[in-house]
Amino acid sequence: MFFCLLCHGINPPGRDLCPECLRQLPWNRFHCERCAEPWDDPFTGLCQHCVTEEPYFDLCYSPLRYAFPVDQLILQGKQPNRGELLLALGRLLGHCILRDRIPLPDLILPVPLHPDKQQTRGFNQAGILARLVARRLRRPLRYDVITKVRERGPQKALSRAERQQNLQRAFRINRTVLRALPQLPRHVVLVDDVMTTGSTLNQLARQLRSSGVERVDGWAVARAARQSR
Ligand SMILES: [Zn+2]
Ligand SMILES: [Zn+2]
Repeated sequence: MFFCLLCHGINPPGRDLCPECLRQLPWNRFHCERCAEPWDDPFTGLCQHCVTEEPYFDLCYSPLRYAFPVDQLILQGKQPNRGELLLALGRLLGHCILRDRIPLPDLILPVPLHPDKQQTRGFNQAGILARLVARRLRRPLRYDVITKVRERGPQKALSRAERQQNLQRAFRINRTVLRALPQLPRHVVLVDDVMTTGSTLNQLARQLRSSGVERVDGWAVARAARQSR
């Protein structure tokens, strides 16, 4: 017998969520065309951030908003004994990418966790999501292209410039691995569970582009609205 992960009602076999729970999820229907920042009106175009400062990434795709109950699924999915939630989210992301005909890349990379954090938690949720998506879309995946080199610490007390500088030092692109690939990827996608401000994605896109990648997109299960609005 199969049960819906949200309402625990009886479900058709092989489904994580029942049709009603699926329908009621906070879908990111209206959003910035570039960074997926959610908004309430059926308006197409770019948000103020993307207009003022053009991002280094080409497209961010996030089918859901970071709101109830998706926020709970993501938070609980980080618990070691709730792996089925993370698997359900990964399957959902893969399904939505195909449904919405999102351009597929040459290479998929998960946004890495700091090694200490990964050791404590035992896994990187972005890595699990990326693996599920890569398998579904039959695209290559690498875990060793980006390394997180230092913990960024509390960012709130820092100025914007300081935050930017910290972020620049936070990730390292392993160019040797990139160049050793059968072909230098032209189009890369970064996978994460949640995208909040987009600054991590933007920074990684900038570094990947300076390593010769032409196009960098970001895929996240859920997109949070920026705090400063
Ligand atoms: Zn349900
Ligand atoms: Zn935007």
